[in-house]
Amino acid sequence: RAKAKGRACYAIFDPVVAQEIISASRLENDLKGAIEKEELTLYYQPIFDLETQMIQGVEALVRWQHPQNGLISPQFFIPIAEETGYILAIDNWVLETACHQMKQWLTLGSNCQFSKVSINISSYQCLQKNLTQKIRKILSTTGLNPSNITLEITETALIQDPDSAIVILNQLKDLGIILSLDDFGTGYSSLSYLHYFPVDTLKIDRSFISNLSKNKEGLEIVKTIINLGRNLNMDIVAEGIETDEQLKLLKQLNCQYGQGYLFSKPLAVDDMNQLINS
Ligand code: C2E
Ligand code: MG
Ligand code: MG
Ligand code: MG
Repeated sequence: RAKAKGRACYAIFDPVVAQEIISASRLENDLKGAIEKEELTLYYQPIFDLETQMIQGVEALVRWQHPQNGLISPQFFIPIAEETGYILAIDNWVLETACHQMKQWLTLGSNCQFSKVSINISSYQCLQKNLTQKIRKILSTTGLNPSNITLEITETALIQDPDSAIVILNQLKDLGIILSLDDFGTGYSSLSYLHYFPVDTLKIDRSFISNLSKNKEGLEIVKTIINLGRNLNMDIVAEGIETDEQLKLLKQLNCQYGQGYLFSKPLAVDDMNQLINS
């Protein structure tokens, strides 16, 4: 008994563990004030038409400029935000900010080749009964058309509560919003659910693209995903294109759209503006 207790005490005072606990809870706490303190920013990564090399749209990707820790990746703070429920506030902020930015780009007129902004939404946001209402409101304040907005959702969000998700997605679809299935192939039960959901676009996860040129199997899997999407009348976007070889193969497989470091990293607004005007 004493031994067990002793071990527990040791665990609590392990400096490494303690440091992790302190920093995670501090970040959790800091995150609550991040929107008010204007510490969140959006970067934008262009999505290209692989054939014409024109920018077809941009994906908004959130970053957190922490006063002490510097620029923090969403991979790190989105899970914290999901645990604390603070994700909804972040998702709302991203929606509004990305839509206002898209409106600004559209007012640049012919300089701006693209007219679509893709916005990642969490499972929470995806299951909000008032999501369509929220978006209607943003459309009326920004003057954007529904077709200017693509919402990126993941399979995980849909599988959590498929019946509710279908109702909400159909409302969004009726409004004219474009729906995209993000990280396709990494969730589970994708195939059995796919045709129930009114999604317009499949985004092939980066993990498949990085295996594309490694072996025959890697190529066959991507080929199969592309054919699946095409047979279901969906657009296909390849994520994380990093090499000329991957691009060449994707074009051979008739994948229409893609994004990745080969073309451009996610850019701050100023850099995106430069790209638009170049
Ligand atoms: P995602 O939506 O699948 O976004 C693609 C991620 O891949 C981005 O990471 C992007 O920077 C990265 N990426 C793009 N091209 C390449 C490439 O060629 N090579 C490599 N290695 N990476 C590439 P990021 O910005 O760190 O975002 C990570 C994830 O965080 C996103 O995955 C998305 O699930 C989530 N996320 C980002 N922004 C938001 C947001 O505003 N709201 C919500 N709810 N989630 C977000
Ligand atoms: Mg995405
Ligand atoms: Mg993705
Ligand atoms: Mg991802």
